[in-house]
Amino acid sequence: MSPLVIYNTLTRRKETFVPLVPGRAGIYVCGPTVYDFIHVGNARTFAVFDLVVRWLRASGYEVTYVRNITDVDDKILDRARERGEPIGAFTERTVAAFVEDCERLNLLAPDREPRATRYIGPMLELIERLESKGLAYRGANGDVFFSVHDFPGYGKLSRKNLADLRAGERVAVEAAKRDPLDFVLWKAAKPGEPSWPSAFGAGRPGWHIECSAMSGRELGATFDIHGGGWDLQFPHHENEIAQSEGANAEPFVNYWMHAAFLNMGDEKMSKSLGNFFTAREVLDRLDPVQGGEQLRFFLLRGHYRSELAFTPELLEDAGNALRGLYTALREVPAARSPVDWSHPIAARFRDAMNDDFDTPVAFAALHELRAEVNRTRSGALSGLLRALGGTIGFLQRDPEAFLKGGVTLDVDALVAERSAAKKAKDYARADAIRAQLDASGIVLEDKPGGATEWRKK
Ligand code: AMP
Ligand code: ZN
Repeated sequence: MSPLVIYNTLTRRKETFVPLVPGRAGIYVCGPTVYDFIHVGNARTFAVFDLVVRWLRASGYEVTYVRNITDVDDKILDRARERGEPIGAFTERTVAAFVEDCERLNLLAPDREPRATRYIGPMLELIERLESKGLAYRGANGDVFFSVHDFPGYGKLSRKNLADLRAGERVAVEAAKRDPLDFVLWKAAKPGEPSWPSAFGAGRPGWHIECSAMSGRELGATFDIHGGGWDLQFPHHENEIAQSEGANAEPFVNYWMHAAFLNMGDEKMSKSLGNFFTAREVLDRLDPVQGGEQLRFFLLRGHYRSELAFTPELLEDAGNALRGLYTALREVPAARSPVDWSHPIAARFRDAMNDDFDTPVAFAALHELRAEVNRTRSGALSGLLRALGGTIGFLQRDPEAFLKGGVTLDVDALVAERSAAKKAKDYARADAIRAQLDASGIVLEDKPGGATEWRKK
C-alpha cells in the first residue's frame, strides 16, 4: 500500500507524511477575516483542507483540525463603522454567515475555531518573548515590530532573500521601522478603535502574530500540517515562521500546504479586484438540494495545486458528473459495507489520494466504478462507490431525493419567455410570469437596455 505523500511548500518536494505522534495529525488552516461573505475562491481553499482532513481521518489518523477566525482588523473596523454597528455584533453576524456557508458546502466544522480577540494574552506572551530575544522592538510611533534581519531563516518558505526583497519590492520606508521589511506585531491604540492593555501600551495585534499564537496554543510549538491559500506564503506564513521559530527555537511546521487560486479569466478571484461571486450567491442559483455538493465537487475536481477557472460551464459539468454517479447509486441500490480496499479500483482511488491528494485521478476511479456498477448491476460495487465517495464527503445523500432536486422552476427559461412576451407586447403574460416567480421567492430586476436579472428574496 502506498504511503501518504504530501507536497511540502517548504522543501518544494513531495514527502512521505510522518506525523509527530504516530496515528495522530495536527493541522492548522488560516481561516477567514470576517468582514464580509466568503467568495468561491475562499471556499476553494477551505474545501481543499476539508478534503485533507477527511482523507487523513479515512486513513485512520486521529486528526485535530484547527481553523481560526480573524475577528479584528482594519477592514472589519471600517465595515462596522460604515454600518454604525458595534464590532462584536458585526463579527457575530459575519461568523454566523460563514458557518452557514460552510454547512451548505458540507465542510466539516473544525475541532477548534479560535478567534483572534480571545487569544490576546497568548499573543502578548509571544511578543514579549520575541522582545526578550532581541527579535522585536518598539518603534517611534508606539507600534511593536519584528526585526526580520535578526531572524536568520527569514525567506525560507517563499525562497526570498532580504536583499532581493528590499530591491525588488517597493517597500515604503516608514520612519517608525528600522528596516522597511519589518512587520508589525502590536499596533498602538488609536481613538475609536478597540484596544487591549499591554506592557507595550494599549493596542491591538498585527495579523501575523494571531496565527502564531493560536496555532501554538492549540497544537503546540511544533505541529504537522499548516495550510492556506497560495497567496498566504508571503508574507503571512513567512512571518508566522519567523515569529514562532524566533520565539520557540524549534521547527514550527513540518508540512506546509498551499491551495492554488480559483480564477476569473486569468486573474485570481478577489475582493479587491471586484471579480468575485460570493459562495452564497452561487449556491442560491443552484438547485437547493444538489447545489452544495455540486459546488464542492466543482472546487475539488481539479488538483489542489493547479489553478482552477470559475465558469458556468465547468460548474454545470460538475453537476452532470455528480448526477451521473448518483444515478448509478439509484439504479443499483448500494449494499452498506466498509470500503473493500483490496478491490483494484478502490486501491487506485487510495493510491491517487495518497499521492498528494490527486483528486482528478481519484474521481476518474469513481467514474470507472460507476461504469462497472452500470455494467454488472452489483449492489456490492454500488456500495463500494458510495463508501469511496464517503471517504471524502461525497455521495452520502439518498440518491432518489438528490436526483429529484429542489427546484421545479426553470427560472432562466421563464425570464426569457417573459422578455419575449414583453417584446410581443403581451403584458398580461409577462406579468403572470413575474407573479409566478415572485410566488417562488424570485425577484426580477429589469436593467436599462432590456436585460433582466434575477435573485432570490
Ligand atoms: P481571507 O479571508 O482573504 O484572508 O482569505 C481566506 C482564505 O482564502 C485564505 O487562505 C486565502 O489565501 C484564500 N483565498 C483568497 N482568494 C482565493 C482564491 N481566488 N482562490 C483560492 N483561495 C483564495
Ligand atoms: Zn494565518
